[in-house]
Amino acid sequence: MKEFAYERAADVRDALIAAGGGARYLGGGTNLVDLMKAGVEAPTRLVDVRRLPLAGVGEAPDGGLVIGATTTNSDLAAHPDVRRRFPALSQAVLAGASGQLRNMATVGGNLLQRTRCAYFATQVCNKRVPGTGCPAIAGEHHNHAILGWTQSCAATHPSDMAVALLAFDAVVRYETLDGPGEIPLEEFYPPVGDTPHRETALPPGALVTAVVLPGSAVSPRSRYRKVRERASYAFATVSVAAALDLDGGSARIALGGVASRPWRARTAEAFLLDAPLSAEVFRAAAEAELAAAEPLPGNGYKVRLAGNLIETVLKELRP
Ligand code: SF4
Repeated sequence: MKEFAYERAADVRDALIAAGGGARYLGGGTNLVDLMKAGVEAPTRLVDVRRLPLAGVGEAPDGGLVIGATTTNSDLAAHPDVRRRFPALSQAVLAGASGQLRNMATVGGNLLQRTRCAYFATQVCNKRVPGTGCPAIAGEHHNHAILGWTQSCAATHPSDMAVALLAFDAVVRYETLDGPGEIPLEEFYPPVGDTPHRETALPPGALVTAVVLPGSAVSPRSRYRKVRERASYAFATVSVAAALDLDGGSARIALGGVASRPWRARTAEAFLLDAPLSAEVFRAAAEAELAAAEPLPGNGYKVRLAGNLIETVLKELRP
């Protein structure tokens, strides 16, 4: 491991000032420290933000929730208002990592974690150094993207939490030295295009401070399901976060494990608008969404798996 400085920020402004140059913010460190050991990340300074007053889940004025960025995954999943109003979010968090990791990992860090593409961790590629190629496309890619990928990169986003947050129209709040800002989660992760190294829309040096769940998205009838290669501990092969609004005749659906970012299934949602809640309609909605899928030679199974999982979750949410 290369030498680096360590600094514990006293307040948000301290953290922002300290974060210039080659610094990285340190939350739970459950991804960043691993990447430092592997030589993928080499920050000159770690700015520890865990003692900042950013932890906790509070009420938003519109009936939604404000989740502080240093809230641990365990505390988020266990929070009674999250479990009652946004159960798919609690389920998604509990489907991620292990209990020990969830006790350390933070909400802000979860959103900023990096792909688990095996090549990324072991060799230079387009995501690490632009223009160096993507060995996964001609190589091992059975767990890579089927939607929205490009010849530059077919890696998937690893977060379970972000999939549920996307289904609930979450908004990310951040601070910079120029002032605060907000980005809807749907715009937080840019399309991969030919810039896979550019992973978020955050301004340089920005510190994520909170995630807001709007009151309009409160969905007790919501669910997160994840298919993975081992039940105890694995990233998603395919996952689905869905919420069914029986009064409004609408659904919210987001997919994980299928794209470089959590994937909002807008086509399927449009198909379900005011439609009967039948298995046939759910199947047709899933097929409409996945018509855009472009699987690689080794991951075509994900198309059918995603379709089955969308249909299964919607059927489970039906009265
Ligand atoms: Fe790198 Fe992306 Fe290709 Fe994986 S899929 S090797 S992260 S460029």
